[in-house]
Amino acid sequence: MTFQKTDLAQRDLDSVWHPCTQMHDHPRVPMIAITHGQGIWLYDDHGQHYLDAVSSWWTNLFGHAEPHIASAIKDQLEQLEHVIFAGFTHQPAVELAERLIQITPSGLERVFYADNGSSAVEVGLKMSYHYWRNCGYHDKTRFATLSGSYHGETLGALSVSDVALYRSTYAPLLLTPVIVPSPDAYQRETGESWKAFAHRRLADMRAVFEQQADSLCAVIVEPLVQCAGGMRMYHPSYLHGLRQLCDEFQVHMIADEIAVGFGRTGTLFACEQAHIRPDFMLLSKGLTGGFLPLAAVLTTAEIYAAFYAEYTSHKAFLHSHSYTGNPLACRAALATLDLFRDRPVLERNHELAAHLGRMVAPLVEHPHVAEVRQTGMIAAVELVQDKASRRPFPAVQRRGLDVYLYCLKHGVLQRPLGDIIYFMPPYCITTEEIELMVRTATAGINHATS
Ligand SMILES: *Cc1c(COP(=O)(O)O)cnc(C)c1O
Repeated sequence: MTFQKTDLAQRDLDSVWHPCTQMHDHPRVPMIAITHGQGIWLYDDHGQHYLDAVSSWWTNLFGHAEPHIASAIKDQLEQLEHVIFAGFTHQPAVELAERLIQITPSGLERVFYADNGSSAVEVGLKMSYHYWRNCGYHDKTRFATLSGSYHGETLGALSVSDVALYRSTYAPLLLTPVIVPSPDAYQRETGESWKAFAHRRLADMRAVFEQQADSLCAVIVEPLVQCAGGMRMYHPSYLHGLRQLCDEFQVHMIADEIAVGFGRTGTLFACEQAHIRPDFMLLSKGLTGGFLPLAAVLTTAEIYAAFYAEYTSHKAFLHSHSYTGNPLACRAALATLDLFRDRPVLERNHELAAHLGRMVAPLVEHPHVAEVRQTGMIAAVELVQDKASRRPFPAVQRRGLDVYLYCLKHGVLQRPLGDIIYFMPPYCITTEEIELMVRTATAGINHATS
């Protein structure tokens, strides 16, 4: 199959500027015009179809054009598309807040809406800082984050991220967080368990808190999987220990579950595996099943109470976005929660994850694979030049891009993070489709490393 420039693709390249893209790569990298989606499949205007192995940037949970979510949005469209969310409210926003409070760890009792993941991160950071200020702690002005973490692209969210590719250019514009070594199990010593390594890395966090807790508002983490940083995974006991440190040193814990929430790691929320409640939980991406942009920041009654005062005390959280609490997006989220309530989603995911694990396991033997790792419905394969020393391929060789192009030609949308090939499919995938997805990626890996 050869890629042709379609009318739409050409018009796109003449007028649109795409996210996370060096536009100069096109058209060596084809621009693909999608006309419709159905379940796990995306269809282009040339009659090709692609298995969406990355859930359209981790947003999709139950497949494209999922009928229950689609019909909820259609229904909502005829009632109320949007309304100012200050002084006004509506059924979908209220019901969604109530249901999110019910299903998240107990103790999270307030919901603040935003309209994308990065905005939710901004809200979490500002709320944490403002809470301490309202309580008279004026020295708490900084944040701690883990090496290799990713929390979004707006300046505040990028500030607490540690992916050089996205951050370094803008470093002069950013806040300077304390970057603490990640419990990422890839970095453990040979023979060391994930758990033992997590404990060692907790000691690093303790040392930072001992020195700097007085100036720290919060530590922000991606629970269990640092996704954009390369699907880096770690043991849940790290989160448990971090919660204890946060309590001991009076530092907030912000759990960014934007990518890992809603069943991705095997539990509804990743924090559940550590039996903890963060002070802030950030949700987006899968929140609407991948249909519409929406984010929610959940926090405790205690934090909420620190803002609740006479207007003239200047304690209010005056942050806002025009589309806060959009009714269409809230309806999509409610319909998504219905599917979790009415179907055995997590049970089915356990079976699918086990199958995915069996399919990717043989890649461990590949001469250019340093590690195969998995947490629930996320599996990742680390390509390297030298297996023994784990020396990566020179970045300029763009081996991951070769895998991307190979898989596209063979009908699978696989978008590696550098040389890390990962699988993060919608939950509607079948075992046969898992086999197709992994077989295609394996062939792509062979192609790109030969
Ligand atoms: C994607 C992501 C974000 C940013 O969300 P956007 O909606 O893309 O702004 C923040 N945190 C994590 C962990 C993410 O994966």
